[in-house]
Amino acid sequence: MVTVGPRGAGRAPAPAGGRAVPAPAPDLASLRASEVFTVLCAPGLLLLAVAVVVLVPEFLHPGTTGVVLGGGVLAPPVAAFAILRQRRTGRAQGWWSVWATGVLSVLTLTIDDSAFRQTAVMALVVGPLYAAMFTSTRSMLGHLALAVAAGSALVAGIPGDGEERAMRVLAVQMVLVLSVVGLFVLRRRLDTAVALLTLARDRADDLAGHDPLTGLLNRRGLRLALEAAAAGGRGLGPTGAVLLDVDHFKTVNDTLGHDAGDAVLIRIAAVLAATARPTDLVARIGGEEFLVVATATEPGDVARLGERLRAAVVADGGRPPVTVSAGVASCPPEPGVPCLVDELQSRADRLLYRAKSTGRNRVCVEEPGEVTPADPARAGAPAPRLPGRSG
Ligand code: GH3
Ligand code: MG
Ligand code: MG
Repeated sequence: MVTVGPRGAGRAPAPAGGRAVPAPAPDLASLRASEVFTVLCAPGLLLLAVAVVVLVPEFLHPGTTGVVLGGGVLAPPVAAFAILRQRRTGRAQGWWSVWATGVLSVLTLTIDDSAFRQTAVMALVVGPLYAAMFTSTRSMLGHLALAVAAGSALVAGIPGDGEERAMRVLAVQMVLVLSVVGLFVLRRRLDTAVALLTLARDRADDLAGHDPLTGLLNRRGLRLALEAAAAGGRGLGPTGAVLLDVDHFKTVNDTLGHDAGDAVLIRIAAVLAATARPTDLVARIGGEEFLVVATATEPGDVARLGERLRAAVVADGGRPPVTVSAGVASCPPEPGVPCLVDELQSRADRLLYRAKSTGRNRVCVEEPGEVTPADPARAGAPAPRLPGRSG
């Protein structure tokens, strides 16, 4: 059933066309961004390798041209493979950035010119930055350690006195650690903010379709559930409706107070939700009025459902004891005749009035052949389509 009992009770999925659990927004966002990052980095690596080999070959150690070019040429296919894998598994591939960091380390090692090498060392930050943005804490720390070790070794190898080398190593380590960890912390904060917003949005959606006091569907939720049922095409259109109203409810409020009245409403909602069948939709549509729309059942069963609901409220045994009156309306038995919740409710309302005026704590059902003016389908008037009124 698409309803819950008292607030906090578990809710089953919508009867048809139920909303699938959306993929968490942070993952989706990072998936796209990581692809863009990878697509930009791969040709960047290739260009860098070609540019070094073509423009400044004298900067390279003799015999290392092939290594540098090979690393650059392999960048686009490795990146494409990483993206395809990522699309299949849904996870950013940390090994792509390990590979990029490795290629950059090799490239930097092969550079003979010390000034250019210092500049190239800074490119090592690319891999850890990628990991910080798109992968796990462990992966980010692994990338960072790799880049810090490679970068430190590379700048330590540049000629200079001991203090100079130590300062260079310290500078490389500080830049790498601060930028990568800073970005990682920022990303985690954004992930948390997005997760909280997603929770708040789900809660707002939930409240918009449910009565906050009882947790039952409200008018809007009922309409949406019927729309989902109709769209799902699973034959879950209404078969009939039971409209229930608590008897002398004002007296409960007047004698025991509004909070006690609320507790009675919560109790009745729980009884109705527990007594209705899984395919029924239970809604609180007014102060102390409940509508149970029976779906996918025989019309004769609706009257029995009404009586079962009434008896369940009486048998509940809670304090103060309360009773309900109910009106039951069923869809026309003729196949192909539209059956509308608005029309059902309006007919059930007349029968509820009859139940009230004939003593309360009873269920009134239409007599066979009884046609009321509010029955456009039977009276031959054009009938609007499912679902009925909006919330
Ligand atoms: P009847 O048997 O004819 O239905 O009498 P009744 O007293 O149940 O009906 P009436 O329409 O006179 O009173 C309904 C009361 O329901 C009045 C209103 O204050 C109360 N009510 C409506 N919504 C809520 C609510 O959310 N909580 C509480 N505690 N009371 C509510
Ligand atoms: Mg009422
Ligand atoms: Mg009442």
